Amino acid sequence: MNIYSIRGAITIEENTKENIVINTEMLLNEIIEKNNINKENIINIVFSTTNDITKAYPAIATRNIGITDCAIMCLQEMYVEESLPMCIRVMITVNLDVKKQDLKHIYLKEAKKLRPDIALKGSGFAVAVDGPAGSGKSTVSKIISKELSFIYVDTGAMFRTITLYCLQNNINCNNTEEIVKNLQNINVSLSFENGIQQIYLNDENVTEKIRTQEISKNASIIAQIPDVREKLLNMQREIANNNNVIMDGRDIGTNVLPNANVKIYLDADIDERAKRRCEELSLKNEKFEYEQVRQGIIDRDNLDKNRKIAPLKKANDAITINTTNLSISEVSEMIIKIIKENIK
Ligand code: C5P
Repeated sequence: MNIYSIRGAITIEENTKENIVINTEMLLNEIIEKNNINKENIINIVFSTTNDITKAYPAIATRNIGITDCAIMCLQEMYVEESLPMCIRVMITVNLDVKKQDLKHIYLKEAKKLRPDIALKGSGFAVAVDGPAGSGKSTVSKIISKELSFIYVDTGAMFRTITLYCLQNNINCNNTEEIVKNLQNINVSLSFENGIQQIYLNDENVTEKIRTQEISKNASIIAQIPDVREKLLNMQREIANNNNVIMDGRDIGTNVLPNANVKIYLDADIDERAKRRCEELSLKNEKFEYEQVRQGIIDRDNLDKNRKIAPLKKANDAITINTTNLSISEVSEMIIKIIKENIK
């Protein structure tokens, strides 16, 4: 047995005794049922309400559902600008025989908006982010995934991992036949640590190793091979089926997840994108020449845009954001707003 605090919230419709009691009971019952709580193992319950709720009946609600022997406390919250109105929150401290990650925090009615990650669990909400190299996809996707507790899937890393295998095994990235023959020896797998992707090549964690200029250049060559794309496509779709994801790449909105709930196409001027790449390389103390980096991006975009299979293209229903003159937080906030509007 471990001691845990389980949280929950619900909104009420009217500031009346009847409505407050019914909703409080509903919230408590849902937390108890979903977490399989034995009422005798509850240590204490703390309630709070937004300050537009002027009454509270914690003792009546708990007694009505058969909790008679635990400490209760109820507080009125300070006013918080733009907070959800008419909201009752609860925190139950309880002895439970489960793992921490299996706890189910419960958010009901309008309070679901407070935790879209939990409200959507299991339903496979998908955000597709496509765009050319250096448009800011991975930077903003990481921030958004953290904010909303979605899983961030970097599909470019999968193409890079297959490229790494080719380079390590002296396979020419233009030799399609040889690469296809070797695909059965290449096992790409992912794990997610705090929502951030770690990528493995035949059990070796190669998350950092795949971030070289040589791999960037060759990845867009092997990404043209239909068998390579097919191998990765199934994996990408399976992750999206089982999780709430923000997935970035080149063909996510058009090909991998054509039914994604939100589709974003990020773009930026070539000079701005080259500048960003150079800044990244400087941070890693790598040598580079601006013109070479700029040309490398142009070449990669050309290959990605003009290949026959799943080329880089804006999906018809994608929202384009040009990030040239926007900060990272401005872009992230714009996308989070779009996602939240689509969750409602
Ligand atoms: O995004 P990143 O630069 O890591 O991607 C590396 C390469 O992988 C891209 O240049 C592109 O050729 C390929 N790619 C792709 N389809 C995706 C993601 C990446 O073809 N969905």
